[in-house]
Amino acid sequence: MINRQKIPIKKSMRMFLGDIVYKKKKRRRDVFKNGIRVLVYHSITDNLIEKEWEENTTPKDLFDKQLKYLKNNGYVAVSLEKVFAYIKNNVIIPDNTVAITFDDGFRNNYTNALPILEKYKFPATIFITVDFLRDYSGSDLYLNCSEIKNMIKSGLISFGSHGLTHRALTTVKKRELDKEISLSKERLENIINNKTIFFAYPFGHSGSYNSNIKQMLKRHGFKAAFTTISGINNFKSDPFLLRRNRISWLDDLYEYEKHMRGAYDWCAICEYLRYKKYRI
Ligand SMILES: [Zn+2]
Repeated sequence: MINRQKIPIKKSMRMFLGDIVYKKKKRRRDVFKNGIRVLVYHSITDNLIEKEWEENTTPKDLFDKQLKYLKNNGYVAVSLEKVFAYIKNNVIIPDNTVAITFDDGFRNNYTNALPILEKYKFPATIFITVDFLRDYSGSDLYLNCSEIKNMIKSGLISFGSHGLTHRALTTVKKRELDKEISLSKERLENIINNKTIFFAYPFGHSGSYNSNIKQMLKRHGFKAAFTTISGINNFKSDPFLLRRNRISWLDDLYEYEKHMRGAYDWCAICEYLRYKKYRI
C-alpha cells in the first residue's frame, strides 16, 4: 500500500481525477478500445527509496505483483516488434495487449527485473543511454555490455536506443543531434550484434522531440520512437510518437489497474499544454 502522506499534492490531485475517470470507464466496461498500452519502467530497486518519489523507481516486489496482476487478468504481453507490426499492418489486436519497456539501462533491470520477467515469460525492451553504460562513462547504477549480452540470451529482452547522453534532443545543436541519434545506434548495434529500429526520446514529454528529430531518426534507420505521453497505440498512431504509460512505486495494484483501464490517458492533454512553449 502506498504511504499517501508521501505523495506530492500534484500527484494526489492526478490520482483523484484518475479515480473519477476510472469509475466512469468501469461502469461502461470500457477496457481496451483497439489499442496497445505500452508501459515504461526505469529502476527496479531492491527496496523502495522513499526520498526518490519521482516516477523512476519501482521496488521489485511491487514489480512482481504488477506482472502477476497482468497474468491473472488475461493481459497478453508482447514484444515491441509485435506492437510495431500491429500498428504498421493494421491487423486485429488481441484484447488486453500490453508491452513492457524500461528506460536508461539500469543495472537492476538485469539483477531484479529479468528474473521476474522470466518467471511470467513476459518479453520487454530496454532503451539504453549508451554513455550511461559502465563500459563507457556510466556509474555502477547502470548495465555493462556483458550484462546486455546475457539478457539477450534469455530470449525475452530486446534493446533500443535512448540516445547517447540523455540530453533532451530539442536542446542540442544539429551536429550533436546527429551524434546522439547515429552514434547511439551504431554503438548499441555493435554491442547487441544486431539491428535496432526503436528509439525512446530522452524525457519523452511533448517538448522533447520535433519534426526535425523525427526525420533524422528515419534517415538513420529507426522505424518507431516512443514518448512518455500516456495513452494507447493503434493503426492511427504516428510510429514516431508512440505513447507509453509511466509506472512507478506510486502504482499499487489499484493505481496499476487505473493505468491499464486508461484512467490517466487524459494526462496527455496536460502534458501537451505544459510543454507547449518548448515545441519548435
Ligand atoms: Zn530516460
